[in-house]
Amino acid sequence: MIRVLVWNEFKHELTSETVKAVYPDGIHEAIAEFLGKEDDIEVKTAYLDQENCGITKEILDETDVLIWWGHMAHHLVPDAVATLVRDAVHEGMGAIFLHSAHHSKPFKALMGTSCNLTWRETGDSEIVWVIDPAHPITRGIDRCFKLEHEETYGEPFTIPNPDKVLLIGNYSGGEVFRSGVLYERVNGKIFYFQPGHETFPTFKVPEVQTIIKNAVRFVAPTYRTKIDCPHVRNIDDSEGYVIVKK
Ligand code: ZN
Repeated sequence: MIRVLVWNEFKHELTSETVKAVYPDGIHEAIAEFLGKEDDIEVKTAYLDQENCGITKEILDETDVLIWWGHMAHHLVPDAVATLVRDAVHEGMGAIFLHSAHHSKPFKALMGTSCNLTWRETGDSEIVWVIDPAHPITRGIDRCFKLEHEETYGEPFTIPNPDKVLLIGNYSGGEVFRSGVLYERVNGKIFYFQPGHETFPTFKVPEVQTIIKNAVRFVAPTYRTKIDCPHVRNIDDSEGYVIVKK
């Protein structure tokens, strides 16, 4: 089983009637609902207002894939929590950052850049184009799919050059945006996926759900280990190639 933790800021759903109407139980529960129907996926959720944001080292140790949605309260996530997430990814945990999580502390810690973009909330439609149809994350998606409304995100997106660009969004207002990008950081795989503005039912769109399910399976760890800095003997040492101390 792939153990998934869906983390949501869970603020808009409590303060905006528009968002509450779309996601009455929160974006995290909407994502957990469709992932939970998969035989090979086990889902838990966490959100900002829980103790320590619902994130501890122990919880991350038992998480194969962390999914993160945040927007208005990135600053309320303690730096220590972002560091825990970054370190868990370096050890091998998979991570999926959705929509406005491009500005979340854990994503920026993993990218090392501002992760800025251009944006507009005018209800543009978006065509999400598959750039890499051979990739496991785009399996089951046609050449493209259309979202009736999304927040417009445009280039330049100040991320490091991705290992792979899988999807590009094209908005009715004209912009294009790298909507699905992949990274590896030490042992961990990271997928950033742009759709998912809180006022639109994007997470109920079948293609969006397919991509998130595929991504969970793709970024799930194949190797995970504690990252340390051991002091070791020479391989020809009479006492053998052993760790002297950590
Ligand atoms: Zn948004």
